[in-house]
Amino acid sequence: MPAPAPALDSPDPGFDELLARRPALSMDPLAGLAMEDVPLARIAAAVGTPTWVYSATTLRRRAGALKRALAEAGLAASIHFATKANPSLAVVNLLAREGLGADVVSEGELLAARAAGVPASGIVFSGVGKTAREMRLALEEDILQINVESAEEAEMLSAVAQGLGRRARCALRVNPDVDARTHAKITTGLTENKFGVPIALAPALYARMCALPGLEPVGLAVHIGSQITQGVASYAAAYRRLGELVRALRAVGHPVRRVDCGGGLGISYRDESPASPEALAGAIKAGLGGLDLALMLEPGRWICGPAGVLLSEVIIEKQGLGRRFVILDAAMTELLRPAMYEAWHGILPVSPAAFRAPLSAADVVGPVCESSDTFARGRMLPPLPPHSLVAFLDAGAYGASMSSTYNARPLAAEVMVEGARFAVIRERQSHAALLAGQRIPASSADWVT
Ligand SMILES: *Cc1c(COP(=O)(O)O)cnc(C)c1O
Repeated sequence: MPAPAPALDSPDPGFDELLARRPALSMDPLAGLAMEDVPLARIAAAVGTPTWVYSATTLRRRAGALKRALAEAGLAASIHFATKANPSLAVVNLLAREGLGADVVSEGELLAARAAGVPASGIVFSGVGKTAREMRLALEEDILQINVESAEEAEMLSAVAQGLGRRARCALRVNPDVDARTHAKITTGLTENKFGVPIALAPALYARMCALPGLEPVGLAVHIGSQITQGVASYAAAYRRLGELVRALRAVGHPVRRVDCGGGLGISYRDESPASPEALAGAIKAGLGGLDLALMLEPGRWICGPAGVLLSEVIIEKQGLGRRFVILDAAMTELLRPAMYEAWHGILPVSPAAFRAPLSAADVVGPVCESSDTFARGRMLPPLPPHSLVAFLDAGAYGASMSSTYNARPLAAEVMVEGARFAVIRERQSHAALLAGQRIPASSADWVT
Protein backbone atom coordinates (compact mmCIF):
# COMPACT_ATOMS: atom_id res chain seq x y z
CA MET A 1 0.00 0.00 0.00
CA PRO A 2 1.24 3.52 -0.68
CA ALA A 3 2.11 5.40 2.48
CA PRO A 4 -0.75 7.57 3.76
CA ALA A 5 -0.38 11.33 3.52
CA PRO A 6 1.80 12.41 6.47
CA ALA A 7 -0.20 13.55 9.48
CA LEU A 8 0.29 17.23 10.11
CA ASP A 9 0.93 16.81 13.81
CA SER A 10 3.86 19.22 13.96
CA PRO A 11 3.08 22.95 14.11
CA ASP A 12 3.25 24.76 10.77
CA PRO A 13 6.58 26.50 10.16
CA GLY A 14 6.48 30.22 10.89
CA PHE A 15 6.89 32.98 8.29
CA ASP A 16 10.56 33.61 9.19
CA GLU A 17 11.36 29.91 9.00
CA LEU A 18 9.69 29.62 5.58
CA LEU A 19 11.63 32.64 4.32
CA ALA A 20 14.96 31.44 5.69
CA ARG A 21 14.75 28.27 3.59
CA ARG A 22 13.89 30.10 0.34
CA PRO A 23 16.88 32.17 -0.72
CA ALA A 24 15.12 33.91 -3.64
CA LEU A 25 12.62 35.51 -1.25
CA SER A 26 13.19 38.23 1.33
CA MET A 27 11.12 40.63 3.41
CA ASP A 28 12.08 44.24 2.86
CA PRO A 29 10.93 46.42 5.78
CA LEU A 30 9.56 49.02 3.35
CA ALA A 31 8.78 47.28 0.05
CA GLY A 32 7.56 44.01 1.56
CA LEU A 33 8.05 40.50 0.24
CA ALA A 34 10.45 40.49 -2.71
CA MET A 35 11.60 37.83 -5.15
CA GLU A 36 15.26 38.44 -5.93
CA ASP A 37 15.29 42.27 -5.99
CA VAL A 38 11.74 42.84 -7.19
CA PRO A 39 8.99 43.59 -4.64
CA LEU A 40 6.00 41.35 -5.37
CA ALA A 41 3.68 44.33 -4.76
CA ARG A 42 5.27 46.01 -7.79
CA ILE A 43 4.42 43.03 -9.97
CA ALA A 44 0.85 42.92 -8.64
CA ALA A 45 0.42 46.63 -9.40
CA ALA A 46 1.75 46.24 -12.93
CA VAL A 47 0.30 42.89 -13.97
CA GLY A 48 -2.63 42.32 -11.59
CA THR A 49 -3.45 39.12 -9.73
CA PRO A 50 -3.52 36.16 -9.62
CA THR A 51 -0.06 35.92 -11.18
CA TRP A 52 2.64 33.25 -11.20
CA VAL A 53 6.14 34.62 -10.53
CA TYR A 54 9.31 32.62 -11.22
CA SER A 55 12.89 33.36 -10.19
CA ALA A 56 15.31 32.93 -13.10
CA THR A 57 18.27 32.80 -10.74
CA THR A 58 16.69 29.98 -8.72
CA LEU A 59 15.99 27.95 -11.86
CA ARG A 60 19.59 28.40 -12.96
CA ARG A 61 21.00 27.56 -9.51
CA ARG A 62 18.98 24.39 -9.20
CA ALA A 63 19.82 23.17 -12.69
CA GLY A 64 23.48 23.85 -11.87
CA ALA A 65 23.31 22.01 -8.53
CA LEU A 66 21.88 18.92 -10.18
CA LYS A 67 24.48 18.96 -12.97
CA ARG A 68 27.24 19.36 -10.39
CA ALA A 69 26.00 16.46 -8.23
CA LEU A 70 25.97 14.12 -11.24
CA ALA A 71 29.38 15.28 -12.46
CA GLU A 72 30.95 14.95 -9.00
CA ALA A 73 29.67 11.37 -8.77
CA GLY A 74 31.48 10.76 -12.07
CA LEU A 75 28.24 9.98 -13.90
CA ALA A 76 27.86 10.70 -17.62
CA ALA A 77 24.26 11.85 -17.39
CA SER A 78 22.04 14.18 -19.37
CA ILE A 79 19.16 16.04 -17.71
CA HIS A 80 15.78 16.24 -19.44
CA PHE A 81 13.44 18.69 -17.68
CA ALA A 82 9.96 17.19 -17.24
CA THR A 83 8.07 19.81 -19.18
CA LYS A 84 4.74 18.95 -17.59
CA ALA A 85 5.93 20.51 -14.33
CA ASN A 86 6.18 23.92 -16.02
CA PRO A 87 5.83 24.14 -19.81
CA SER A 88 6.25 27.93 -19.92
CA LEU A 89 8.40 28.70 -22.97
CA ALA A 90 10.56 31.14 -21.02
CA VAL A 91 11.24 28.57 -18.29
CA VAL A 92 12.03 25.75 -20.72
CA ASN A 93 14.19 28.12 -22.78
CA LEU A 94 16.17 29.23 -19.71
CA LEU A 95 16.79 25.59 -18.78
CA ALA A 96 17.72 24.70 -22.36
CA ARG A 97 20.36 27.43 -22.24
CA GLU A 98 21.69 25.71 -19.11
CA GLY A 99 22.10 22.57 -21.20
CA LEU A 100 18.95 20.72 -20.14
CA GLY A 101 16.85 18.77 -22.61
CA ALA A 102 13.15 18.01 -22.18
CA ASP A 103 10.96 15.09 -21.20
CA VAL A 104 7.59 15.47 -22.91
CA VAL A 105 4.34 13.52 -22.64
CA SER A 106 2.23 14.94 -25.46
CA GLU A 107 2.31 16.54 -28.90
CA GLY A 108 1.69 19.91 -27.23
CA GLU A 109 4.67 19.53 -24.90
CA LEU A 110 6.88 18.36 -27.77
CA LEU A 111 5.93 21.44 -29.79
CA ALA A 112 6.42 23.66 -26.73
CA ALA A 113 9.88 22.22 -26.09
CA ARG A 114 10.89 22.80 -29.71
CA ALA A 115 9.40 26.33 -29.64
CA ALA A 116 11.39 27.01 -26.46
CA GLY A 117 14.61 26.10 -28.25
CA VAL A 118 15.24 22.57 -27.01
CA PRO A 119 17.00 20.65 -29.79
CA ALA A 120 15.21 17.50 -30.94
CA SER A 121 18.30 15.57 -29.90
CA GLY A 122 17.56 16.55 -26.29
CA ILE A 123 13.92 15.40 -26.19
CA VAL A 124 12.53 12.21 -24.64
CA PHE A 125 8.86 11.26 -25.16
CA SER A 126 7.22 9.41 -22.23
CA GLY A 127 3.62 8.46 -21.44
CA VAL A 128 1.28 5.46 -21.55
CA GLY A 129 -0.98 6.68 -24.34
CA LYS A 130 0.93 8.15 -27.25
CA THR A 131 -1.23 8.40 -30.35
CA ALA A 132 -0.01 7.36 -33.80
CA ARG A 133 -0.01 11.03 -34.70
CA GLU A 134 2.24 11.85 -31.73
CA MET A 135 4.58 9.00 -32.66
CA ARG A 136 4.81 10.31 -36.22
CA LEU A 137 5.64 13.81 -35.00
CA ALA A 138 8.35 12.43 -32.68
CA LEU A 139 9.85 10.40 -35.54
CA GLU A 140 9.70 13.26 -38.04
CA GLU A 141 11.38 15.56 -35.52
CA ASP A 142 13.95 12.78 -34.93
CA ILE A 143 13.90 13.22 -31.16
CA LEU A 144 16.44 11.48 -28.94
CA GLN A 145 14.23 8.70 -27.61
CA ILE A 146 10.69 7.40 -27.23
CA ASN A 147 9.96 5.53 -24.01
CA VAL A 148 7.73 2.54 -24.74
CA GLU A 149 5.31 1.59 -21.97
CA SER A 150 3.74 -1.68 -23.17
CA ALA A 151 4.05 -4.59 -25.59
CA GLU A 152 1.09 -3.21 -27.51
CA GLU A 153 2.73 0.20 -27.81
CA ALA A 154 5.97 -1.41 -29.06
CA GLU A 155 4.04 -3.06 -31.92
CA MET A 156 2.23 0.18 -32.70
CA LEU A 157 5.41 2.29 -32.68
CA SER A 158 7.17 -0.21 -34.93
CA ALA A 159 4.30 -0.07 -37.44
CA VAL A 160 4.21 3.75 -37.40
CA ALA A 161 7.99 3.98 -37.86
CA GLN A 162 7.93 1.45 -40.70
CA GLY A 163 5.23 3.51 -42.39
CA LEU A 164 7.67 6.44 -42.37
CA GLY A 165 10.60 4.27 -43.46
CA ARG A 166 12.33 4.80 -40.14
CA ARG A 167 13.41 2.96 -37.03
CA ALA A 168 12.33 4.45 -33.73
CA ARG A 169 15.06 4.88 -31.11
CA CYS A 170 13.25 3.65 -28.05
CA ALA A 171 13.68 2.57 -24.45
CA LEU A 172 11.48 0.16 -22.53
CA ARG A 173 9.92 1.68 -19.42
CA VAL A 174 10.16 -0.91 -16.71
CA ASN A 175 8.03 -0.96 -13.61
CA PRO A 176 10.42 -2.15 -10.88
CA ASP A 177 7.62 -2.75 -8.33
CA VAL A 178 9.11 -0.54 -5.64
CA ASP A 179 7.03 1.66 -3.37
CA ALA A 180 8.19 5.25 -3.64
CA ARG A 181 6.24 5.97 -0.41
CA THR A 182 4.65 9.10 -1.76
CA HIS A 183 1.00 10.16 -2.24
CA ALA A 184 -1.15 7.42 -3.84
CA LYS A 185 -2.03 9.76 -6.71
CA ILE A 186 1.62 10.31 -7.68
CA THR A 187 3.24 6.92 -7.10
CA THR A 188 3.98 5.11 -10.35
CA GLY A 189 6.45 2.30 -9.66
CA LEU A 190 4.07 -0.34 -8.25
CA THR A 191 2.72 -3.24 -10.29
CA GLU A 192 -0.81 -1.92 -9.72
CA ASN A 193 -0.01 1.35 -11.55
CA LYS A 194 -0.70 1.87 -15.25
CA PHE A 195 2.91 2.83 -16.02
CA GLY A 196 5.62 0.72 -17.63
CA VAL A 197 5.84 -3.06 -17.93
CA PRO A 198 6.41 -5.38 -14.96
CA ILE A 199 10.12 -6.06 -14.64
CA ALA A 200 9.54 -9.83 -14.86
CA LEU A 201 8.15 -9.40 -18.39
CA ALA A 202 10.88 -7.02 -19.54
CA PRO A 203 13.44 -9.55 -20.89
CA ALA A 204 10.93 -11.18 -23.27
CA LEU A 205 9.52 -7.84 -24.38
CA TYR A 206 12.98 -6.33 -24.93
CA ALA A 207 13.86 -9.33 -27.11
CA ARG A 208 10.64 -8.82 -29.06
CA MET A 209 11.44 -5.11 -29.48
CA CYS A 210 14.89 -5.99 -30.85
CA ALA A 211 13.18 -8.19 -33.43
CA LEU A 212 10.63 -5.60 -34.56
CA PRO A 213 11.66 -4.01 -37.87
CA GLY A 214 10.57 -0.47 -36.96
CA LEU A 215 12.36 -0.28 -33.60
CA GLU A 216 15.91 0.43 -32.50
CA PRO A 217 15.90 -0.35 -28.77
CA VAL A 218 18.59 1.67 -27.00
CA GLY A 219 17.90 0.87 -23.36
CA LEU A 220 15.62 1.05 -20.36
CA ALA A 221 13.66 3.71 -18.53
CA VAL A 222 12.15 3.93 -15.07
CA HIS A 223 10.18 6.55 -13.14
CA ILE A 224 8.86 5.44 -9.77
CA GLY A 225 6.80 8.43 -8.67
CA SER A 226 6.80 12.10 -7.78
CA GLN A 227 7.51 14.18 -4.65
CA ILE A 228 9.70 11.39 -3.24
CA THR A 229 10.84 12.63 0.17
CA GLN A 230 11.59 9.47 2.17
CA GLY A 231 15.30 9.13 1.39
CA VAL A 232 16.77 7.34 -1.62
CA ALA A 233 16.04 3.73 -0.60
CA SER A 234 13.28 3.32 -3.19
CA TYR A 235 15.48 4.87 -5.89
CA ALA A 236 18.38 2.63 -4.89
CA ALA A 237 16.17 -0.47 -5.07
CA ALA A 238 14.82 0.51 -8.49
CA TYR A 239 18.26 1.24 -9.95
CA ARG A 240 19.68 -1.98 -8.51
CA ARG A 241 16.93 -3.96 -10.27
CA LEU A 242 17.52 -2.04 -13.48
CA GLY A 243 21.26 -2.75 -13.26
CA GLU A 244 20.56 -6.46 -12.95
CA LEU A 245 18.24 -6.27 -15.93
CA VAL A 246 20.89 -4.46 -18.01
CA ARG A 247 23.36 -7.28 -17.27
CA ALA A 248 20.80 -9.97 -18.06
CA LEU A 249 19.84 -8.38 -21.38
CA ARG A 250 23.46 -7.89 -22.42
CA ALA A 251 24.27 -11.48 -21.43
CA VAL A 252 21.91 -12.69 -24.16
CA GLY A 253 23.32 -10.25 -26.69
CA HIS A 254 20.88 -7.36 -26.61
CA PRO A 255 22.26 -3.84 -26.92
CA VAL A 256 21.55 -1.67 -23.85
CA ARG A 257 23.29 1.68 -24.20
CA ARG A 258 21.15 3.98 -22.08
CA VAL A 259 19.16 4.02 -18.86
CA ASP A 260 16.68 6.81 -18.21
CA CYS A 261 16.54 7.15 -14.42
CA GLY A 262 13.30 9.17 -14.34
CA GLY A 263 12.41 12.07 -12.05
CA GLY A 264 10.50 12.36 -8.81
CA LEU A 265 13.00 13.98 -6.43
CA GLY A 266 10.89 15.75 -3.82
CA ILE A 267 11.09 19.25 -2.37
CA SER A 268 10.27 20.66 1.05
CA TYR A 269 6.85 22.33 0.94
CA ARG A 270 6.31 22.27 4.72
CA ASP A 271 8.92 20.41 6.77
CA GLU A 272 9.81 17.43 4.60
CA SER A 273 13.52 16.65 4.29
CA PRO A 274 13.90 15.15 0.84
CA ALA A 275 17.11 13.55 -0.34
CA SER A 276 19.79 15.73 -1.91
CA PRO A 277 20.85 15.53 -5.56
CA GLU A 278 24.13 14.10 -4.22
CA ALA A 279 22.27 11.23 -2.51
CA LEU A 280 20.28 10.58 -5.69
CA ALA A 281 23.50 10.54 -7.73
CA GLY A 282 24.91 8.06 -5.20
CA ALA A 283 21.92 5.74 -5.62
CA ILE A 284 22.29 5.90 -9.41
CA LYS A 285 25.99 5.16 -9.16
CA ALA A 286 25.45 2.23 -6.79
CA GLY A 287 22.89 0.56 -9.06
CA LEU A 288 24.03 1.56 -12.52
CA GLY A 289 27.63 2.76 -12.20
CA GLY A 290 30.39 0.91 -14.02
CA LEU A 291 28.02 -0.41 -16.70
CA ASP A 292 29.22 1.99 -19.40
CA LEU A 293 25.74 3.45 -19.83
CA ALA A 294 24.61 6.84 -21.02
CA LEU A 295 22.42 7.91 -18.11
CA MET A 296 19.47 10.27 -18.23
CA LEU A 297 17.46 12.05 -15.55
CA GLU A 298 13.98 13.58 -15.90
CA PRO A 299 13.47 15.95 -12.96
CA GLY A 300 10.53 18.34 -12.97
CA ARG A 301 9.40 19.50 -9.55
CA TRP A 302 12.87 19.64 -8.01
CA ILE A 303 14.10 22.09 -10.65
CA CYS A 304 11.19 24.51 -10.82
CA GLY A 305 8.93 24.00 -7.78
CA PRO A 306 10.88 26.18 -5.34
CA ALA A 307 11.49 28.79 -8.07
CA GLY A 308 7.90 30.02 -8.23
CA VAL A 309 5.18 31.68 -6.19
CA LEU A 310 1.53 32.34 -6.92
CA LEU A 311 0.71 35.93 -6.09
CA SER A 312 -2.90 36.58 -5.10
CA GLU A 313 -5.04 39.36 -3.66
CA VAL A 314 -7.57 39.06 -0.86
CA ILE A 315 -11.10 39.75 -2.11
CA ILE A 316 -12.72 39.78 1.31
CA GLU A 317 -12.46 38.28 4.76
CA LYS A 318 -15.62 36.56 5.98
CA GLN A 319 -16.32 35.78 9.62
CA GLY A 320 -18.29 32.53 9.87
CA LEU A 321 -19.56 30.83 13.03
CA GLY A 322 -16.28 30.33 14.85
CA ARG A 323 -14.37 30.30 11.55
CA ARG A 324 -12.58 32.99 9.69
CA PHE A 325 -12.39 32.70 5.89
CA VAL A 326 -9.84 34.55 3.79
CA ILE A 327 -11.28 34.61 0.28
CA LEU A 328 -8.66 35.13 -2.44
CA ASP A 329 -8.78 35.96 -6.13
CA ALA A 330 -6.73 32.79 -6.76
CA ALA A 331 -8.56 29.48 -6.73
CA MET A 332 -8.18 25.76 -7.35
CA THR A 333 -8.32 26.76 -11.02
CA GLU A 334 -4.81 28.18 -10.58
CA LEU A 335 -3.21 26.09 -7.82
CA LEU A 336 -4.93 22.69 -7.91
CA ARG A 337 -2.53 20.77 -5.68
CA PRO A 338 -4.28 21.43 -2.33
CA ALA A 339 -7.66 20.32 -3.73
CA MET A 340 -6.23 17.35 -5.60
CA TYR A 341 -3.53 16.00 -3.28
CA GLU A 342 -4.29 17.76 0.04
CA ALA A 343 -0.97 19.46 -0.60
CA TRP A 344 0.38 22.02 1.87
CA HIS A 345 1.79 25.29 0.51
CA GLY A 346 3.32 28.04 2.62
CA ILE A 347 1.30 31.27 2.42
CA LEU A 348 3.13 34.51 3.19
CA PRO A 349 1.64 37.98 3.53
CA VAL A 350 3.38 40.44 1.19
CA SER A 351 3.13 43.63 3.22
CA PRO A 352 5.76 44.21 5.96
CA ALA A 353 3.08 45.23 8.48
CA ALA A 354 1.04 42.07 7.92
CA PHE A 355 4.22 39.98 8.15
CA ARG A 356 4.72 41.10 11.78
CA ALA A 357 1.05 41.41 12.87
CA PRO A 358 -0.62 39.07 15.42
CA LEU A 359 -1.86 35.79 13.95
CA SER A 360 -5.12 33.92 14.18
CA ALA A 361 -6.44 30.80 12.48
CA ALA A 362 -8.08 31.19 9.08
CA ASP A 363 -9.36 29.01 6.28
CA VAL A 364 -7.86 30.25 3.03
CA VAL A 365 -10.20 29.67 0.10
CA GLY A 366 -10.80 30.69 -3.51
CA PRO A 367 -14.00 32.06 -5.06
CA VAL A 368 -14.82 28.94 -7.11
CA CYS A 369 -18.12 27.18 -6.39
CA GLU A 370 -16.64 23.97 -4.92
CA SER A 371 -15.94 23.13 -1.29
CA SER A 372 -12.63 21.65 -2.38
CA ASP A 373 -11.58 25.15 -3.49
CA THR A 374 -9.72 25.39 -0.18
CA PHE A 375 -5.99 26.11 0.05
CA ALA A 376 -5.57 25.75 3.81
CA ARG A 377 -7.61 25.17 6.97
CA GLY A 378 -6.77 26.70 10.32
CA ARG A 379 -3.70 28.49 8.95
CA MET A 380 -2.22 31.10 11.30
CA LEU A 381 -2.40 34.40 9.45
CA PRO A 382 -2.54 38.11 10.28
CA PRO A 383 -5.65 40.20 9.57
CA LEU A 384 -5.86 40.43 5.77
CA PRO A 385 -8.25 43.19 4.72
CA PRO A 386 -9.43 43.42 1.09
CA HIS A 387 -6.59 44.06 -1.44
CA SER A 388 -3.93 42.54 0.85
CA LEU A 389 -1.49 40.44 -1.15
CA VAL A 390 -0.35 36.93 -0.29
CA ALA A 391 2.16 34.61 -1.95
CA PHE A 392 1.81 30.84 -2.18
CA LEU A 393 5.29 29.33 -1.95
CA ASP A 394 6.81 26.57 -4.06
CA ALA A 395 4.21 27.02 -6.78
CA GLY A 396 6.64 26.80 -9.71
CA ALA A 397 5.88 23.14 -10.48
CA TYR A 398 2.46 21.65 -11.25
CA GLY A 399 0.99 25.12 -10.69
CA ALA A 400 0.29 27.00 -13.91
CA SER A 401 0.55 23.73 -15.84
CA MET A 402 -2.42 22.23 -13.95
CA SER A 403 -4.61 25.32 -14.29
CA SER A 404 -8.11 25.20 -15.72
CA THR A 405 -10.68 27.76 -16.79
CA TYR A 406 -13.48 26.34 -14.60
CA ASN A 407 -16.04 29.00 -13.65
CA ALA A 408 -14.97 30.81 -16.87
CA ARG A 409 -11.83 32.05 -15.17
CA PRO A 410 -9.15 33.14 -17.66
CA LEU A 411 -5.65 31.66 -17.21
CA ALA A 412 -3.47 33.80 -14.94
CA ALA A 413 -0.46 35.81 -16.09
CA GLU A 414 3.10 34.52 -15.62
CA VAL A 415 6.13 36.65 -14.82
CA MET A 416 9.86 35.94 -14.65
CA VAL A 417 12.11 37.85 -12.26
CA GLU A 418 15.83 38.21 -12.69
CA GLY A 419 17.78 40.46 -10.32
CA ALA A 420 16.02 43.82 -10.17
CA ARG A 421 13.91 43.34 -13.32
CA PHE A 422 10.88 41.34 -14.35
CA ALA A 423 9.25 40.29 -17.61
CA VAL A 424 5.73 39.11 -18.40
CA ILE A 425 6.27 35.67 -19.93
CA ARG A 426 2.60 34.90 -20.43
CA GLU A 427 -0.14 37.50 -20.71
CA ARG A 428 -3.23 37.08 -18.62
CA GLN A 429 -5.80 35.35 -20.84
CA SER A 430 -8.55 37.72 -21.94
CA HIS A 431 -12.23 36.98 -21.62
CA ALA A 432 -12.44 37.31 -25.40
CA ALA A 433 -9.80 34.58 -25.80
CA LEU A 434 -11.75 32.39 -23.41
CA LEU A 435 -14.89 32.70 -25.57
CA ALA A 436 -13.05 32.47 -28.89
CA GLY A 437 -13.66 29.34 -30.90
CA GLN A 438 -17.13 28.74 -29.49
CA ARG A 439 -20.24 28.86 -31.67
CA ILE A 440 -23.98 28.82 -31.10
CA PRO A 441 -25.44 26.84 -34.03
CA ALA A 442 -27.96 29.13 -35.70
CA SER A 443 -28.71 28.37 -39.33
CA SER A 444 -29.06 24.86 -40.75
CA ALA A 445 -25.61 25.31 -42.32
CA ASP A 446 -24.10 25.09 -38.83
CA TRP A 447 -25.42 21.56 -38.32
CA VAL A 448 -23.75 18.50 -39.83
CA THR A 449 -26.18 15.83 -40.96
C1 LIG B 1 6.12 13.44 -14.24
C2 LIG B 1 7.29 12.71 -14.75
C3 LIG B 1 8.58 13.13 -14.43
C4 LIG B 1 8.87 14.28 -13.50
O1 LIG B 1 8.45 14.06 -12.20
P1 LIG B 1 8.87 15.09 -11.04
O2 LIG B 1 8.27 14.51 -9.83
O3 LIG B 1 8.29 16.40 -11.39
O4 LIG B 1 10.34 15.13 -11.00
C5 LIG B 1 9.63 12.44 -14.99
N1 LIG B 1 9.43 11.37 -15.81
C6 LIG B 1 8.19 10.95 -16.13
C7 LIG B 1 8.05 9.79 -17.04
C8 LIG B 1 7.09 11.59 -15.61
O5 LIG B 1 5.87 11.15 -15.91
